[in-house]
Amino acid sequence: MLQERLYYKDPYRTSFTSTVIREGTDEQGRPFAVLENTAFYPTGGGQPHDTGDLSGSAVTDVEETGGEVRHYLERPLGTGTAVTGTVDWARRFDHMQQHTGQHILTAAFVELFGYTTISFHLGQEIVTIDLAAADVTADELAAAEALANQVILENRPIGTKWVTKEELGQYNLRKDVSVEEEIRLVIIPDFDTNGCGGTHPASTGQVAALKILSVEKQKKNTRVHFVCGGRVLDQLGTVHGELTKTAQLLSAPLKQTASAAEQLLETAHSLEKQLEAAKEELLDREAASLAGRKSGIIRQTYDGYSMQELQKLAKKTLAVREQAIVILVSETSDKLQFVVSRTAALKTDLRTASSIALPAIEGKGGGSASTVQGGGAKLITADELARLLERSIPVYA
Ligand SMILES: [Zn+2]
Repeated sequence: MLQERLYYKDPYRTSFTSTVIREGTDEQGRPFAVLENTAFYPTGGGQPHDTGDLSGSAVTDVEETGGEVRHYLERPLGTGTAVTGTVDWARRFDHMQQHTGQHILTAAFVELFGYTTISFHLGQEIVTIDLAAADVTADELAAAEALANQVILENRPIGTKWVTKEELGQYNLRKDVSVEEEIRLVIIPDFDTNGCGGTHPASTGQVAALKILSVEKQKKNTRVHFVCGGRVLDQLGTVHGELTKTAQLLSAPLKQTASAAEQLLETAHSLEKQLEAAKEELLDREAASLAGRKSGIIRQTYDGYSMQELQKLAKKTLAVREQAIVILVSETSDKLQFVVSRTAALKTDLRTASSIALPAIEGKGGGSASTVQGGGAKLITADELARLLERSIPVYA
């Protein structure tokens, strides 16, 4: 038997007295109480459950199972106990605003463009609806948002009515009703009539405002992200705060942060290009200096060169030499990296040198007979590694 649902009689009611008619635990061992009557809304129809308090025991979840409303409690109260219930009004009213805003926005999209809503989600921060439309333009979004806010501003009454399946034919419904009995209609005059079991404010004005935040394409549908009521102010506060910080960092007026950020990115991009060109020039000069040495084996250590830089340097150096071997080692605070490379005219297998040297730095490496590279821990100095590699080259030994 369905209990008396006070949230339908008066969605503004936050306190009530009742009696525990049954207590139990669910499959997860959570204790719950079923009451004679309740103002606690159970999760359903896309609206999340209420929270609150039952005679000092916190109500953490409320759900409807097999026609009974289960109040999940911090601690059991005892069957037959008279209880006083208090619903967390801030949470409930937020749900009423978001949920009713969804009715209005859904109706606005149908009214203006014939786009139906196929699903909706009331999240902790954002609400979404999925429209059965592949392409929704920015103008259409703006028009639907404007109509929704117009309906809110007109403060139209929101009525509810219990009807039978037979009576449904008299109403112009947005979509088919899924329940067979206890059909509840929610009516915004001359705008929307919908089968709905949720809680709604007495008039549209209490939704306060509706703002679409973004859209997301989803194959044949479009997901619209939006907020209503108090969440509009929350969003404005958060985003405005972030934007103010960004504007301060950019030393730009609040409304010009995008163009200031764009300029900053352009500058960064051009500096990056200049830096790359300067690095390339530095490697060219370094390579020319190394290639100019008289010796057949060119050995050099560096601070903080990347493996890619060592490889480039080896290639550039050997490009202007007939016969030479180049040994380059780079060190960072805790690592050593090396490249050993030779000109094609020499036949030495450099892999031998690499395999002898690698254990000294507990390192890993690879390569071919003409070029090897590797890296490991800084267990010896960069100069010691360079000398070890040189001693380990077969032709040199
Ligand atoms: Zn509703």
